[in-house]
Amino acid sequence: MGVNQQLGGNVTVTSLDKLVNWSRKSSIWPMTFGLACCAIEMMATGASHHDLDRFGIIFRASPRQADCIIIAGTVTKKMLPVIQTVYEQMPEPKWVVAMGACACSGGVFDTYSVVQGIDEALPVDVYIPGCPPRPEALLFGLMKLQDKIMKESNSFGSTFGLGDRVSTV
Ligand code: SF4
Repeated sequence: MGVNQQLGGNVTVTSLDKLVNWSRKSSIWPMTFGLACCAIEMMATGASHHDLDRFGIIFRASPRQADCIIIAGTVTKKMLPVIQTVYEQMPEPKWVVAMGACACSGGVFDTYSVVQGIDEALPVDVYIPGCPPRPEALLFGLMKLQDKIMKESNSFGSTFGLGDRVSTV
C-alpha cells in the first residue's frame, strides 16, 4: 500500500478557489463597447501590435458572453441607462474597468450632461487614469484586474449559491 514511486514535479496541489480564479483571470471576455476617444485606444490594444488575445482577453459582441465591461470614454447622462442595461445583461461574475479620466471622474467635462464618474452607477474594479490612457496603461489595468480576480475568495462556493464571492483587495 502507499505510494511506491516519487511523484516529483508531476503533482500540483491547489485550492478549488484558486483553480476557479485562475481560469477566470485567464479568460476575461470584455464587452465590445466604446463610448468616445478612449475607445480608439481600447481598439488599438486589442489589435495586432498589443495583442490582448495573448492574455486570453477576447472581446465579445454580446453582453450574454461577456464578463467584463471597459467603460472607454465620456459617459453622458443620456447614455447611462444604456450602459446600465448592457451591464445588467452580463452574467455573474462580472467586472468593470473605468478607462480614462472621463470614465473615472468626468474628466474635463464638468457639465450638466456628463456623469462625473461611472462609479456613480456601476461597481468599478479598476480605474485607469489618463486622457487617453495609452494601450500599455489599459494592459496594465487589465493585469491589475487579473491580480484582483486571483485574490477573490469563495469563488467556487458562490457558483453553487453558497454565499457571495469576496474580494480581498
Ligand atoms: S479621457 Fe480623454 S481621450 Fe478618454 S474619452 Fe475622455 S476626453 Fe476622450
